[in-house]
Amino acid sequence: MKQIAVIGSGTMGNGIAHVFAQYGYPVNLIDISADALKKAIGTIEKNLERQVSKQAITEDTRKQTLANITTHTDLRAGVTHADLVVEAATENIDLKLKIFKDLDAFTKPEAILASNTSSISITKIASVTNRPDKVIGMHFMNPVPVMKLVEVIRGYNTSDEVTNTIVGLSKMLEKVPVEVNDYPGFVANRILMPMINEAIYSLYEGVAGVSEIDTVMKLGMAHPMGPLQLADFIGLDVCLSILKVLHDGFGNPKYAPCPLLVNMVQAGHKGVKTGSGFYKYTPGSKELVVADQFK
Ligand code: NAD
Repeated sequence: MKQIAVIGSGTMGNGIAHVFAQYGYPVNLIDISADALKKAIGTIEKNLERQVSKQAITEDTRKQTLANITTHTDLRAGVTHADLVVEAATENIDLKLKIFKDLDAFTKPEAILASNTSSISITKIASVTNRPDKVIGMHFMNPVPVMKLVEVIRGYNTSDEVTNTIVGLSKMLEKVPVEVNDYPGFVANRILMPMINEAIYSLYEGVAGVSEIDTVMKLGMAHPMGPLQLADFIGLDVCLSILKVLHDGFGNPKYAPCPLLVNMVQAGHKGVKTGSGFYKYTPGSKELVVADQFK
């Protein structure tokens, strides 16, 4: 692997670019939004400074990491020379199918095309390309520079060689890869999202308030953060999309998204990234304050 391209510079894309660049790979970070790219570089700079202050990396590594990242708004220019593309654009199937069709046309035939999708079928994504053996899921966890797991998802036609390459590469990034098969939600979100949905239903049905639900799960189950805070952190729109994929994929009503989640996303309260979800977020403040709607 000589050149990496990362598509989408939001919550996940900036972290994925950060990690590849930190481990010495030249990365083209691509987004349709120049503002999103600017914000992503700002986030990477802040996170690198934190790593330096914690002595996790040296000042030289910080500088080299930033120097390894180039931003692009043009997909073709950003992926032409890539050996590996990791797609981390918005969780929307039509968008991902369009991106992979373009990637198949714009990249070298031997390039590996990975998706960081939380739930969309890798087999379906691969089906719009002429290289389904080289399409794979590389599912990083948020925040990418901190979380060790990479869920490596084998589509129906993904080759052993490509799987082994991605497993090896994940280890080089000092992550722990876990191979799973391609069924809705894979493993991580098939288990996590029903728990988050159930927490939202508990709030919706008035069983308990936001802090109470999160406290039960934090202190009772030793979770580092409660499910409602975690949902805000992931992005409520992302949670909703994943639940829809589980609901459609299994045809089982137990995955139906809670109407409260649907309303919050429609109202633009998508969690940390919009400044409000179950909690409200003020830049620079670490205090956890329940959103006004739930007081
Ligand atoms: P996000 O909304 O924070 O960022 C998505 C970015 O994609 C935006 O900057 C947007 O401008 C960009 N984008 C949209 N269309 C594009 C296109 N055609 N070309 C280039 N860029 C485009 O989303 P996110 O939370 O970073 O999620 C990205 C992917 O990662 C999704 O597939 C999601 O399911 C997955 N994921 C998310 C999390 C999480 O905790 N948020 C965890 C694991 C995986």
